[in-house]
Amino acid sequence: MWSTDETYRINEIFYSLQGEGYFTGTPAVFIRFSGCNRACPFCDTDHSAYTTMTTDEIMAEVRRFNSHHIVVTGGEPLLQLSTPLLLALKADGYFIAVETNGSLPVPPMVDWVTCSPKEEPWNIDRVDELKIVYQGQDVEAIAERFNAPHLFLQPCSSLNTAETIGYIMAHPHWRLSLQTHKILNIQ
Ligand code: SF4
Repeated sequence: MWSTDETYRINEIFYSLQGEGYFTGTPAVFIRFSGCNRACPFCDTDHSAYTTMTTDEIMAEVRRFNSHHIVVTGGEPLLQLSTPLLLALKADGYFIAVETNGSLPVPPMVDWVTCSPKEEPWNIDRVDELKIVYQGQDVEAIAERFNAPHLFLQPCSSLNTAETIGYIMAHPHWRLSLQTHKILNIQ
């Protein structure tokens, strides 16, 4: 049973363009949850600071912006994302996309799941978009595990962009994802 008093640890809520993957260029409201269950040495997201917010407070914030495309991210958002917030977003007609590290199952009502798998174990049960930072690893084995309809490789730096493009051109079931928000210098 869920409670309308549920609170969430929110790192930030902001409006921008989705910079990566399938929805690149889409105006979206980002809800960044604080906290993660992995400690990747290359993590470039400072998600530790947080404000405790109720569902109503989060909804009041997201309603300030024009887009009905929500990106729930982190940290690892599936540690916290739960029914009260999902119901409230659905009641207002939001499309809910989640960005996850693959460690946890996805709750119902999520419309789109982007998985960038990190350290195992992986317990995710559905993925729409698999997005892998390419470092020459066996990405076909990972793709087989996740069985996602949309496959993206992202260079880990400008130093391996050519290698990533070369792999994709040799294996055209993959597509290139770039961190366009960094190129455009937007959030
Ligand atoms: S899973 Fe993502 S957010 Fe968590 S530590 Fe790794 S890179 Fe950072």
